[in-house]
Amino acid sequence: MQETATERHPDLAETKFARVFAVCPDIITITALATGRYLDVNDAFTRVMGYGRDEVIGRTSSDIGIWETPQERQRLLEALSTSTRLENFAVRIRRKDGEVVDALLSAERTVLDGEDCLIIVGRDISDRIQVEKALSDSETRFRLAMEASNDGLWDWDIQTDQAYFSPAYFRMLGYEPGELPAAGRTWRDLLHPEDRQGAEAAACDCIEGRSESFSAEFRLRARNGGWRWVLCRGRAFGRDPDGRASRLIGTHLDITEHKKFEDILSEKNRALERSNADLEQFAYVASHDLQTPLRNIVRYAQLLELRYRSRIDADADDFIGFIVDSGKHMARLINDLLEFSRASRQAAPLAPIPVGEAVAQALKNLELDLSKAGGEVEIGDMPVVMADQVHLVSLFQNLLGNAVKYRAPDRGLRLSVTAERAPGGFWRFAVADNGIGIDPEYHEKIFEIFQRLNPASDADGTGVGLALCRRIVHRFGGTIWLQSEPGRGTTFFFTLRDGAAGPS
Ligand code: ADP
Repeated sequence: MQETATERHPDLAETKFARVFAVCPDIITITALATGRYLDVNDAFTRVMGYGRDEVIGRTSSDIGIWETPQERQRLLEALSTSTRLENFAVRIRRKDGEVVDALLSAERTVLDGEDCLIIVGRDISDRIQVEKALSDSETRFRLAMEASNDGLWDWDIQTDQAYFSPAYFRMLGYEPGELPAAGRTWRDLLHPEDRQGAEAAACDCIEGRSESFSAEFRLRARNGGWRWVLCRGRAFGRDPDGRASRLIGTHLDITEHKKFEDILSEKNRALERSNADLEQFAYVASHDLQTPLRNIVRYAQLLELRYRSRIDADADDFIGFIVDSGKHMARLINDLLEFSRASRQAAPLAPIPVGEAVAQALKNLELDLSKAGGEVEIGDMPVVMADQVHLVSLFQNLLGNAVKYRAPDRGLRLSVTAERAPGGFWRFAVADNGIGIDPEYHEKIFEIFQRLNPASDADGTGVGLALCRRIVHRFGGTIWLQSEPGRGTTFFFTLRDGAAGPS
């Protein structure tokens, strides 16, 4: 085995150089210039490169395959041919395990013990390069995303009142980048006078520490003289001890189209509300005013029945009977219609209501029908929901009443009311019966007013009950639907907002 430089010159071991050589965290190699053979390598070399000292000394870097490519070595030698010293020379070298690492070398040609040598000190900088690459990748990605999107970026130095705007800002307003500041105008000059106060107050709160971030919508004057709506969001940075920020950074988004759409939508909504109110008013007035003449028709038909039954002929008796029955049916229709229009006309504000009490009240109102039908009623644990008492009772009364009305003639009635938690702060209720069921074809239709499945089967119905239920559930903020198997039974489901925490 060949001797190392320090072995050949024991006095060297005593020198500072030898100690530095041993403890230095950077790679150090000493090579004979004439042969290119390694004379010595330090511990850091063996640690970083993975070679034992014996595997290296006496061999050349090319023998071992240190360089990623032969050109790497060539480059180094060429650089050293014109100067005795090199610094920060970037190379790629291969470790024993085959992995190529980035290294930064310093090299010096020198004479050691009469022999021309090359001392190389190198450092593995792969980690640093990776961090730099990741940083520049994310910066590039960020910049490209900013340029590609309609979101603009702004950065406002409050102390100097200098603001940076990304190209999207200028694009949105139709200016060339840099055109605005060049014309001595700032974003404040572009603000719509009506929006100025709101925008400045939001930014001010954020600067002065009353809020960490802000969001404001305002109009800015575009180059063509029109206005663009902007949604501006920002966050404060660099607060001084008094809590005052030195910088606001944020984004802006062109929401002009969105605003236009919103305006159209809210105009349509207003029109819809107006026509709904008109319709409700019409239904209310019509049904209310129809009650008196109808009452008279029924009353006089009943008088006719009383006084003239069997005194004209059998046909006349039948005709008078039809008038009385139809009049009574119409009175029920009008009554239900009135109740339906009252569901939103005279609606009490929503408050936490214990559902158990509303169910008990509904069952009490149905006592007579229930006792006639017989059967079992099962009520689970009931929560508190946001509702109004009158309509909550009406909702259960309609559903339970239908379960009784549409029970199967050949089996005892079984009815249950249960509740379970549903996502988003809701409860899901189920009112289930074992009645005649509903064909899937009608599952949607029966929620419409006056829609009945089989009008002939039950003369009492008006087709308003489920429409009223849906209206009530919608007003309470929930939804209603059903599952049914014809011949086996029906379950009506609906959701209501949890009321335990009180109004939100
Ligand atoms: P009405 O009961 O006055 O006809 P509803 O709006 O309450 O009006 O119900 C509409 C139709 O839905 C009813 O005519 C009936 O055919 C059907 N229906 C409602 N509830 C049930 C039920 N629990 N079981 C079977 N059919 C039902």
